[in-house]
Amino acid sequence: MYSLYQALLTQHSRQLTPVRCAEQTIAQLHHYFEDVVLENNLAALVIESLPMKAERSLRDLARVREVGRAAHKAFFFVSPGDALTDLPLRTSDQDREPILLKRGTNEKDGERFVVIADARFSALLASVHGDDDDAEADGDRVIWTFEPDIVYSALEYLMARVTAEGHLQAPAFTSSVRSSMPKATSLQLTVSVTTKLARLLQEQAGREVAVNRIATAIRNSLELDSVLQTTVTEVGRALSAQHCALRIEGEPGKEPLTNCYFREGAGSDNAEEAELLADLDAYSVRLAGRYKNYVMDGRADADANSNNVRPLAAVPLIYQERFMGVLMVRSDDSTRTWQENELLLLRTVADQVTVAVSHARLFSQMQQQALTDGLTGCFNRRSFEMQLERDLHMATRMRLPLSLILLDLDNFKLVNDTYGHEAGDVVLRLLADGLRDELRSVDTAARYGGEEFAVILPQAGIDGAMIVAERLRRRIELMEVPGVGHVTASLGIATFPQHASSRDTLVLAADRALYNAKNAGRNCVCVPPDDDSSLMSEDEVPALVEASPTDNAETLDASLIVS
Ligand code: GH3
Ligand code: MG
Ligand code: MG
Repeated sequence: MYSLYQALLTQHSRQLTPVRCAEQTIAQLHHYFEDVVLENNLAALVIESLPMKAERSLRDLARVREVGRAAHKAFFFVSPGDALTDLPLRTSDQDREPILLKRGTNEKDGERFVVIADARFSALLASVHGDDDDAEADGDRVIWTFEPDIVYSALEYLMARVTAEGHLQAPAFTSSVRSSMPKATSLQLTVSVTTKLARLLQEQAGREVAVNRIATAIRNSLELDSVLQTTVTEVGRALSAQHCALRIEGEPGKEPLTNCYFREGAGSDNAEEAELLADLDAYSVRLAGRYKNYVMDGRADADANSNNVRPLAAVPLIYQERFMGVLMVRSDDSTRTWQENELLLLRTVADQVTVAVSHARLFSQMQQQALTDGLTGCFNRRSFEMQLERDLHMATRMRLPLSLILLDLDNFKLVNDTYGHEAGDVVLRLLADGLRDELRSVDTAARYGGEEFAVILPQAGIDGAMIVAERLRRRIELMEVPGVGHVTASLGIATFPQHASSRDTLVLAADRALYNAKNAGRNCVCVPPDDDSSLMSEDEVPALVEASPTDNAETLDASLIVS
């Protein structure tokens, strides 16, 4: 059987032009048509088909009751089995409660319409779900008109349908329709509806632009921060909300990320921001376990200047069934209510952000894995080489020295052999922690090889580097390793440009110095042999050389240390 939409298009093809709309926009159009009845107290006949039970919200039901009471007579088509439990199913037309009509089994479920017939004003809106198989007809299509002739056709069609279906309520329906035939078109009412429609379609276009912009920003950026900032700014603008905020839960052990947007003119001082973030945190907790949207509408009777009511809408970000954060908008207008299509925009954006966040995290994880050593968390050899290249470049430009320390654990093979490989790993991890602890933020510690580490000290000459190296040597010597005791390391230093003029020669020079430190008995610091003090004796640099492992009672067995 034809839907009302198709029947009217066939009969009035020249007067009706279908418009493509998002499903949520169509729901909004229905509300606008109902608004004419509600706002103007039209004693009209209203006939509507309701969305499927699963697609209906509590708001829709409240609306059905409102329209039922306001209209002179209201009929709602529902699908078979949809009892609309809280509305009485009526067969008589004695009171103002809406009457339900069961849709025939062979009628299209996706069909939606509203017909308003009154002596002063008539209107109709009908839509169908786009056919997925038909590429031309993607999205839902809708027609509307205020022509009494066309509304009349619609009523005739509906009467025929109700009669053919043998509805119990058919006589009541037919008599209501006959007594409410459309007669006139009120210009004033028509203009008021069309103004709303125009605005709605313009808003729809605006939202599409916003979603596209956010999608593009997300696609073009793997930088999480810029994705998040674009999101709050665009969502705030698209929904004309004073505030928009986004919270992304941190990965285990990390703080959550938050981003805020304040519309121009809206308060944006620290107190406002703290207050917005507090709201955001509160709704994160609320939404975390429920995965549902939270919507707080303003009140129509609220004082518009009052700050007490700040309508807000919050949607959870969910990735692979895990709660990932919250996207929230808040308005300073205490009478604001959030429309279905606005919530849809929030939902769509939240889904996009969720994907973007997980991509960005994956990307940074991969980057991290590619650059760091899994065991110690230090830079790996590859990233060490890149960093040394960058730091040398900077040193050359700034005409500043740069020093490199190579550090190798002494007799580490024996540590492994004596205490096991896992104990050896603990040594390496503690050593890396110690290095990070001792160094400045501009310095780089890298795992150069198995038990060999490299430290880049930008802006450090040989003297400064020797002090650092000695500090490291001492720290390692004093380090208490559970299950192992104490270990020592030998260190070789080379300084650019004093000992070498390129990356590779600098590494070579430091390596030679390290070799000398091993030869000098281990647990000491050496500089390259090109100056005469290549092996720093205790006399020359007393503070820097500490070659005696026996001062410390807990040092490894002496036989392990002396090669
Ligand atoms: P030297 O004082 O001359 O440096 O003696 P060494 O025993 O430290 O030198 P060698 O190069 O012979 O041994 C290095 C040892 O480091 C051999 C290897 O088993 C160990 N090693 C390398 N990588 C790892 C690692 O990731 N974990 C552990 N536990 N041991 C490692
Ligand atoms: Mg070693
Ligand atoms: Mg080694």
